[in-house]
Amino acid sequence: MPRMPNETQPNDTQLNDTQPNKTLSYKTQMEAARRGIVTCEMETAARDERVPAEELMRMVASGHAVIPSNINHKSGRPRAICGTLKTKINVNLGASADCHNTDVEMAKVRKAESLGADAIMDLSTFGDTRAFRRELAAGCGAALGSVPIYDALVYYDKDLADISPDEWLDVVRIHAEDGIDFLTIHAGMNRAAAARFKRARGHGGGNGRGYNGGGGNGYGCSSGSGHSGGNGRGRITNIVSRGGSLMYAWMEMTGRENPFYERFDDLLDICRAYDVTLSLGDACRPGCVSDASDAAQTDEMITLGELALRAWDKDVQVIIEGPGHMPIDQIAANVQLQKTLCHGAPYYVLGPLVTDVAPGYDHITSAIGGAIAAASGAAFLCYVTPAEHLRLPDEQDVHDGIIAAKIAAHAGDLAKKVPGAYEWDDNISRARQEVNWEAMFAHAIDPAKAKKVHDEAPSKIAGACTMCGHMCAMRNMNKILNGEQVTAR
Ligand code: SF4
Repeated sequence: MPRMPNETQPNDTQLNDTQPNKTLSYKTQMEAARRGIVTCEMETAARDERVPAEELMRMVASGHAVIPSNINHKSGRPRAICGTLKTKINVNLGASADCHNTDVEMAKVRKAESLGADAIMDLSTFGDTRAFRRELAAGCGAALGSVPIYDALVYYDKDLADISPDEWLDVVRIHAEDGIDFLTIHAGMNRAAAARFKRARGHGGGNGRGYNGGGGNGYGCSSGSGHSGGNGRGRITNIVSRGGSLMYAWMEMTGRENPFYERFDDLLDICRAYDVTLSLGDACRPGCVSDASDAAQTDEMITLGELALRAWDKDVQVIIEGPGHMPIDQIAANVQLQKTLCHGAPYYVLGPLVTDVAPGYDHITSAIGGAIAAASGAAFLCYVTPAEHLRLPDEQDVHDGIIAAKIAAHAGDLAKKVPGAYEWDDNISRARQEVNWEAMFAHAIDPAKAKKVHDEAPSKIAGACTMCGHMCAMRNMNKILNGEQVTAR
């Protein structure tokens, strides 16, 4: 939904508190909320969430909710991202050097929108990325995200070490101008974080965990073999964030501080000018379950919490990115830690994938973790497709990843009891009780798949399916409760 023409302006204007709300100007949704203004974006998002708009306004003012809505994304439908509202899902796509057919990527966009994706992140790293991005911003209703650090290498067509701090910031400005609603910025991967990572690696060599062994020169507290036969506590998978690894390499090669950290105020000025939501990337997210919850990950989260406060000082909306790979027993604690260290800023998790051993099925490993994260208070799930760790996803992978993420999000919503969550389940459950197949399909998360599977083998028993046939419990209970005979034959 486009903004009211007089609601936001790219330049600072004098505020007049005596004017009606809609005539006030402000730079960001957060600034409006803090001034007590209910914007049309808040009204739309609140309606979708079934909460009063004033309540959502207060959540945005506190930073606990964000409404990503770049002033240049005219086709975007505003939605609120918040740990106590409906859990949102994001779909990653974009051309790569190996797969760079933009028509194929646009087909994925249409697929994602048709399946109800809340956000689409364009991770293109090949070709005319700006044209693709602008096409997205011109016609896509989902919130749009991107990672400018990926695009910088394409845009400048330079070696990584030759990109200057000004150029890193300029590419952020370009994405903001193009209408991207939320930008992943790895500002937490600073020189201190890199030094901590290196120290840990120096102690462990990335090959083991000395606490139950090691026998070497790490932190090992007993003798024997480590988890993976190594000699210390270094990570197995080092830094797996693409943007984080690029920034780590840039700092190593140039000897300079991360410009997104060093010039964080300049970055905030760009975000503020376009009402871009800052998605603070977790460069040190764990890339395998054994790397989860280590010092590097936690240390970075502390930094991201500090940066969130600085962003809020400038009324810039913030979400915090999280893991990654993480065993089930650590997920709820991780979400709680994020809420504390990041002051309630919405948590955006990639998965978490609860085991490393299922390539080809990582939409399932991530949905398990995503459901637990959502139930624990995560606000936003990044989908993972069956192609994760293997190749760029095709359209069917995108479909399967979205459905898996939607199941995880909805399972979390039931646990959080967000308005309307139980209603959906109750509708399909009543249809099941009535053995009303058309209603069951209509309320299914993937109606076409449900109908297709059912119709592949129709039952000879009226009303039942081939699972139980004449012993259909639903059908027989309906009969006996209606005073009819049950033959079960
Ligand atoms: S036959 Fe069994 S599975 Fe199928 S509708 Fe009846 S109770 Fe459900």
